[in-house]
Amino acid sequence: MHTGVFTDIPFDQDGQHHGFISIPFSVDRSPYYQIKIPVYRLKNGDGPRLLLMAGNHGDEYEGEICLSKLTRLLKPQDIQGEVTLIPFLNLPAVMAARRGSPLDHENLNRCFPGDPSGTPSRRLAYYLEHDLFGRHDVVFDIHSGGTTMAHLPLVLAEEQEKQERMQAVESLLSCMDVRYALIARNGAQAPTSMAAAARAGILGISGEFGGGGAVTPHTLATLEHALNQLMLKLGITRERIFPHSAENSPYTGSMSFLSLTSHEQAIYATRRGWFEPAAEVGDEVREGQTAGWLHDFQDCTAPQKELKFKVSGVVISRRLSVDSEAGDCLIQVGVLAAAH
Ligand SMILES: [Zn+2]
Repeated sequence: MHTGVFTDIPFDQDGQHHGFISIPFSVDRSPYYQIKIPVYRLKNGDGPRLLLMAGNHGDEYEGEICLSKLTRLLKPQDIQGEVTLIPFLNLPAVMAARRGSPLDHENLNRCFPGDPSGTPSRRLAYYLEHDLFGRHDVVFDIHSGGTTMAHLPLVLAEEQEKQERMQAVESLLSCMDVRYALIARNGAQAPTSMAAAARAGILGISGEFGGGGAVTPHTLATLEHALNQLMLKLGITRERIFPHSAENSPYTGSMSFLSLTSHEQAIYATRRGWFEPAAEVGDEVREGQTAGWLHDFQDCTAPQKELKFKVSGVVISRRLSVDSEAGDCLIQVGVLAAAH
């Protein structure tokens, strides 16, 4: 009763259903408290089974807003197959407008494969990897840079060990018609939702759609377009659900693949300082080019430290917070991959 994770979602029933993933977690205010994560589900006969998730990190609002809208727009008669929508996956983090959960101070996307008797975030990760993912064919986990980081809107996936799975994942990324796709290499045992999807035997795709704790018409239009395209490609829908998507986005069309496989592609602060960027997300940059400066604000007579890119490519993310400490990632470059 007061441990584990349970749901009240009728996965086998056609129609439209609203239920919860419930995680018991006793707190001072409420000894038998349960974290109630809303789940919206549509099923219309047999067909592709798609899981859409946002709010893995609570302060990444693009996905949370778009999936909230989609729960209102999508009707069972619009689809063939199944769509499960979870707009606020790590609900305590969403409610706190934070990256991680304030209940257990965990980052859900570093908790996989999870622990059935662990913290709420670890129990949720365990349920996703060992139960919910396996009820679907594809999971699309939507992210962005969050409060402190700007991210170039792009779709992404992890490198797959099997060639046929890699081709299937790349085919899904391509259909989403976003200007850039990123292939990351974090390894099969990574504690992320994407590695969890691979371990669960389903296709995992993700994306970064902006950041800064804010949304823009362009970032939302990009994500709406990607969602339209994905559902069409899978054969779940026959026409686009978000009515005004691609025409409002400068980040769609003629996809290029980027890779993120080397520590050389990121520049980190190695001491406290103020970060002044010399490049913006989306800029094409060259090896040796100035990436920015780190100012020593505790000694104004000390010269600012010039930071240089170690590889050529496209700036995919940069730190928005000026104040930086040793260990903060300041700027990242995606390397253009061979044509696919
Ligand atoms: Zn995220």
